[in-house]
Amino acid sequence: MTSSPPREPWCLFLDRDGVINRRIVGDYVRTTRQWEYLPGALQALRLLSEWAPRIVIVTNQRGVGRGLIAEDDLDRIHTRLLEDVAIVGARIDAIRVCPHLETDECPCRKPRPGLALSWLAVNREVNPARSVMVGDSPSDMGMAQNLAAATGGCLRVLIDDGSDPATTGVDADFRFPTLLDYARDVTP
Ligand SMILES: [Mg+2]
Ligand SMILES: [Zn+2]
Repeated sequence: MTSSPPREPWCLFLDRDGVINRRIVGDYVRTTRQWEYLPGALQALRLLSEWAPRIVIVTNQRGVGRGLIAEDDLDRIHTRLLEDVAIVGARIDAIRVCPHLETDECPCRKPRPGLALSWLAVNREVNPARSVMVGDSPSDMGMAQNLAAATGGCLRVLIDDGSDPATTGVDADFRFPTLLDYARDVTP
């Protein structure tokens, strides 16, 4: 009798602003006081934690590069996020940040795939071609496409509540109004 092989791990990449917490249009979430969860976000993370073998946040924070977000404050925001996630029994395996400006031409600012690629490079047990990217902006869907080109696959899941004209014509494999709608759709 042969035993079935272990399920190969894969990674759910999540954007942060506009997916987990409320995006501040025209500004940045600079401190924990400006951090506000979107309705159902923590519940969604709890559901997704039971389903996805790995969950990694990939977020552009050029406010750091512009000197508008202090790195200490960004650390505090993410420490608080990880604490809240633990309290509800959810899990985030890593948070990867691009602090650069467009003009830095770094490899990690989305839509470039560097944030995901660098994490995958040190987590070799994860099958990169089974990646899923969930985000609320064209750059997230672009990152998914660029990641797929580099690794062989990445599903594009767009969080779109219909209020952002920037996402109207954006190509995606799936669309959901909130992260919780996505979580409820994919989990048993
Ligand atoms: Mg976003
Ligand atoms: Zn970068």
